Amino acid sequence: MKVLVLNCGSSSLKYQLIDSESERVLAKGLCERIGIDGRLTHRPAGKEQVVLEKNMPNHTVAVSLVLEHLIAPDCGVIRDLSEIGAIGHRIVHGGEKFAKSTLITSDVIREIEKCSDLAPLHNPANLIGVRACRQLMPQVPMAAVFDTAFHQTMPKRAYLYGIPHEYYEKYGIRRYGFHGTSHSFVSKRAAQMLGKKPEEVNIIVCHLGNGSSICAVKQGKSIDTSMGLTPLEGLPMGTRSGSLDPAIISFLAEKEGLTLEEVMNILNKKSGMAGMSGVSSDFRDLDDAASGGNVLADEALEVFCYDIAKYIGAYMVAMGGADAIAFTAGVGENDTKVRARVCGFLEGIGIHINKVLNSATKGIEMDLATEDSVCRVLVVPTNEELAIARETVALVEA
Ligand code: ADP
Repeated sequence: MKVLVLNCGSSSLKYQLIDSESERVLAKGLCERIGIDGRLTHRPAGKEQVVLEKNMPNHTVAVSLVLEHLIAPDCGVIRDLSEIGAIGHRIVHGGEKFAKSTLITSDVIREIEKCSDLAPLHNPANLIGVRACRQLMPQVPMAAVFDTAFHQTMPKRAYLYGIPHEYYEKYGIRRYGFHGTSHSFVSKRAAQMLGKKPEEVNIIVCHLGNGSSICAVKQGKSIDTSMGLTPLEGLPMGTRSGSLDPAIISFLAEKEGLTLEEVMNILNKKSGMAGMSGVSSDFRDLDDAASGGNVLADEALEVFCYDIAKYIGAYMVAMGGADAIAFTAGVGENDTKVRARVCGFLEGIGIHINKVLNSATKGIEMDLATEDSVCRVLVVPTNEELAIARETVALVEA
């Protein structure tokens, strides 16, 4: 079956058309600046890339432009839209309602709308994509795959915050966690690399990208994760602060004469690695700056790696030990210096890597741990689109 995987943001739309039997990507691309002007970048496998500047007043126009390109004689990869057997949508927040992926019905759309309070920037945008597809291809089955669903197995002790219980009851304020599709995919693959079933192993997945989160996957189930009610909690990220003393918010507002919204904007968009270093949110720039003697860039990287190591220590306790630590996403797969620095903090608890092998490993599967290491250290490339396609096919075929 050919599955169209869509990830809709407020002004963008990423897509991949995947053949589920061969798991090959037939085409992928991106619509940007939807509602502003519009640009499509379409990459068909084995054919020339197409970049088209064209007005996209809304997501329905963007989706129909994507569909046109998928069947176009010159840059298309299928003959007819009827070849698309299903559509998988990435949905950010499923609240407590969705503990797994689901086929999309009118009821499901209403339930996803109810979760919009918890992800006001993401869920409405995701739903715009769902509605656009319904309008253009009403006969094609669609699945919703949630970033939060994998973490619904967390026990209360991991998801309750230390605030009055009524706020959990009234507003659903609790830890939800994100990147679930990636944590699930990577932990399963890590188990395979160890020659075990997911139920037989404990894995700590470090998804380190622009956004970063860590997950304790005990016997195949998420039991704790670093992101919280929103993706702002946990590690310092590209531009997000990660966890901090909540009193900093009112302190900053008062000292700098800022509104709550302005402070939150700083914490989401001007903090993290970019804010600490004053250099960039991009780890390649940070590595270059640190190598060139930039002290703040080096300190930012030190904070990032130290925090990762602390989560690893905490999750070892949470799971009663780990069989493997798995590094994934842009930084986890490629930034050899970050991996080396994190693992430097872990030597005291018996975790050791082959440093030469680590330096040579980028974007491929590898076990970096030395033989005497108490736990494996894996690099496992993530593939969220493929994971969404697999979930979608499983739901449609059931
Ligand atoms: P997103 O959260 O946007 O999906 P990615 O998982 O693509 O992010 O990760 C993006 C990050 O990965 C960027 O900070 C980028 O600098 C980093 N990255 C990509 N390749 C490398 C590399 N070779 N070395 C160091 N960092 C890298």
